[in-house]
Amino acid sequence: MRELEEKFIVDAMLGNIVTWLRILGYDTIYWSGDDGELIKRALEEDRIILTMDRELALNAIRNGLETFYISKNDSPEVLAELAKRYGIKLRFDRNRTRCPVCNSPLKLVNDKPREEWICPNCGKRYWRGSHWRNIMKTIKDAEERLASSEA
Ligand SMILES: [Zn+2]
Repeated sequence: MRELEEKFIVDAMLGNIVTWLRILGYDTIYWSGDDGELIKRALEEDRIILTMDRELALNAIRNGLETFYISKNDSPEVLAELAKRYGIKLRFDRNRTRCPVCNSPLKLVNDKPREEWICPNCGKRYWRGSHWRNIMKTIKDAEERLASSEA
């Protein structure tokens, strides 16, 4: 199985995007610390920076880092942009999804009657419940925006 290449580090204003990237299986760090440290970490771990902070974005670009400046925090819109720019897949893969809380890859522990995952790191459990429709709706919304931007 090919590893997903893109890894991200995301500033504290974009918590919703962190959750989405993890659900979609992308290794994503949520950063609320110092800008200099963020840049160092991105450099060391080859992570794409997502930020709403213009100054941080400019600073990161000056340091030669791949940086995506986000002006409007709208999940489907940002996901569509990321798909366009970095080729992230707007598709839920039950074997690649990560813990929205701690970023660890989840383990599928039950298939029937309903899929259920456990996080080996923080112990949280997830399953396809009532929130599932909303998750799929946002992913579908992002796909549609991507399609219309490419038309
Ligand atoms: Zn976890």
